[in-house]
Parts: sequence; C-alpha cells; structure tokens
Amino acid sequence: MGKVALVTGASRGIGKAVALGLAQDGFDIWLNYHSSHEAALSVKHEIESIGQSCSMLCFNVADGPACKEVLGKLLQKQTPEVLVNNAGFTRDAIFGLMSDEEWDCVLDVHLNGFYHVTRQIVPYMIHQRKGRIISIVSVSGQTGNAGQVNYSAAKAGLIGATKALARELGKRNILVNAVAPGLIKTEMTDTLSTREYVNAIPLNRMGTAEEVAGCVRFLCSDWASYVTGQVLAVNGGLYL
Ligand code: NAP
Repeated sequence: MGKVALVTGASRGIGKAVALGLAQDGFDIWLNYHSSHEAALSVKHEIESIGQSCSMLCFNVADGPACKEVLGKLLQKQTPEVLVNNAGFTRDAIFGLMSDEEWDCVLDVHLNGFYHVTRQIVPYMIHQRKGRIISIVSVSGQTGNAGQVNYSAAKAGLIGATKALARELGKRNILVNAVAPGLIKTEMTDTLSTREYVNAIPLNRMGTAEEVAGCVRFLCSDWASYVTGQVLAVNGGLYL
C-alpha cells in the first residue's frame, strides 16, 4: 500500500491544489468534500492521471458522527501519513449584527471540524509513530479582521490547537503545523472587492492556491522533519 494523505475540502480552491500537489509528491489521496460532487470527481480524475489513487469521502467535517462513520471504516485498513485540515468557509458580518447561526457555523466548520477529523486520525498516527498534521488557518486568525470576528476566533483557536497538539505529539514523531494564507484567489474571495487589500500587500497581488499548496507540500516533506508547532505565513508580506 502506498502512503496516503487525507485532505479535507479538496473539491476546489486551496484543498484541490494541495491534493494535486501531494499526489505529485507520491501520495494517494483521501479526498474529502461536502456538497460539490462533480467538482470532487474531476479532482479525482486529475489525481488518477498523475498516477495516484483517490478515494472520495463525502462528509461534513462539522458533523462528528459522520466523520466517525466514514473515517472509522477506512482507518481499520490504513493510516494516512498526512492530514490536511483545509475545509471551511466564511460568513462575514459586523459583530453587532452577527446572527447566532453565523457565529456557530463558522466555529463549527473550522474548529469542531479540526477536532472531529483530527481526533479520529491521531490514535492511528500514534500507533504508527509517524504523521504530519497541517491545518490551513488565516492571516485573520493572526491579526484579527473587522467583519470576521467569528472567522478570526476560529482560526486563532486553530493556531492554539496546533501549538498544543505539536507539544503533545512531538515525542511520537508526529509533526503538527499550520499554514496561514493571506489573500488567495479562490471562490472564497471571488465576491470580495480586493483592490483595497491588494494595495496593502507588499508583493502587490493576491496569492494562488498553488503557492499555498507549495508550503503544505514542504511541511509534508523530508525537508521539514525538524519543524513542528509553527505557523507558516503565505501572505505576500501582508502581515510581517
Ligand atoms: P473554497 O474555494 O471556498 O473551497 C472550500 C472547500 O471546503 C470546498 O472544497 C468545500 O467543499 C469544502 N467545504 C466547505 N465546507 C465543508 C464542510 N462542512 N465539510 C467538508 N468540506 C467542506 O475555499 P478556499 O479559499 O480554498 O479555502 C480553503 C481554506 O483556506 C479554508 O479553511 C479557508 O478558511 C482558508 N483560507 C482561505 C483564504 C483565501 O484567501 N482564499 C485565506 C486564508 C485562509 P464543498 O463545496 O463540497 O462543500
């Protein structure tokens, strides 16, 4: 059996670029998505054309029992060497006008999603005494961003979880890191008016999903064997 990477939210955007990049690095992919079946299927075909296998895993990362049901069966057979927690979305609102639903669903997908998926995988990685866990956080979780109190809180929480888990799992040879993108061209940022933000970026442009994926690939590689508990910023210098 080849080495496996589980990538959540890999039907498009950053998750798709990570899945394709890790396939190029020789990983078979467990591709999680929630609703975009056709898009996920097309990523699967791209992965297979690279020469790696791809299993499509449809579940909502915020749904603990669903994560357990899908992953539980697979984990009896094989343990992924790599987990990339990427699935997520934004529900921006001014805090005074934020609904309970906007608060809850963003915390659920990013923070509880991390918990539900990672909690399933970690005991198996401990057994293997090997693993890399990378979570996609955000510059919003590092600096805070007006209009994104929910998202900033979730991503800052994820940074804390990354650092704590890195301390717990270091002795088991499991490396836990985060990648913090700035402004990246994906569907998530499609509707943003980005000109004002781009002016504030020293590199004076948005990043690409592949540029984020490159950093994830590094953290999954032998080159990163002494890197754990870190937040690697991929933001064109936006937050120095
Ligand atoms: P995107 O293009 O909107 O893609 C989001 C992916 O997450 C899709 O594959 C989607 O799949 C999946 N997803 C959403 N909710 C899910 C759920 N509940 N369960 C499982 N999968 C779910 O977003 P992106 O820009 O690539 O963002 C990816 C990650 O990077 C997110 O964590 C985001 O917060 C972070 N990030 C993005 C930027 C940026 O500028 N784009 C900056 C910083 C951080 P379905 O369509 O199948 O639901």
